[in-house]
Amino acid sequence: MKNNCVFCAIAAGEIPSFKVWEDGEFLAYLDINPFSRGHTLVIPKAHYANLAETPEDVLARLAVAVKKTAAKVTGALGIGDFNILQNNGEAAGQTVRHIHFHIVPRIPGGGTAFESGKADMNELADLAAKINAAPNTANNINRAQP
Ligand code: AMP
Ligand code: ZN
Repeated sequence: MKNNCVFCAIAAGEIPSFKVWEDGEFLAYLDINPFSRGHTLVIPKAHYANLAETPEDVLARLAVAVKKTAAKVTGALGIGDFNILQNNGEAAGQTVRHIHFHIVPRIPGGGTAFESGKADMNELADLAAKINAAPNTANNINRAQP
């Protein structure tokens, strides 16, 4: 496994994932231990361990990928609200040393905890299919005008 890294293996297609968005440089897929329905991870396909190690130009494009993915996922699920989370280092709860942003959709009354649930893999597959079947306007998001 390249870099001995599970997310590199996902990016290389060596490990399956419930993909919800990608372009040439970035990939987004459902978290298998979700904090909420639609919990998604966004990664660069190249390996950088954390925020500090990620070049600034990559980070700038990654932020746009997070925005597009959040729009696609929340749009497909009809959910307006979400958290973005990004952990750095063991003490901060980082378990996979390949930079990733969490997108955690939130529904009214659903709480705001960052606590993993147990996901049924068939349900995740259905959810990814639903997200991918929805009309996607996320790629039309333009940079904010100054
Ligand atoms: P962090 O604690 O920020 O490092 O988050 C790592 C996340 O990756 C956790 O929420 C895990 O549930 C998730 N995760 C680990 N392996 C996989 C996988 N093979 N597919 C999808 N998500 C994964
Ligand atoms: Zn990696």
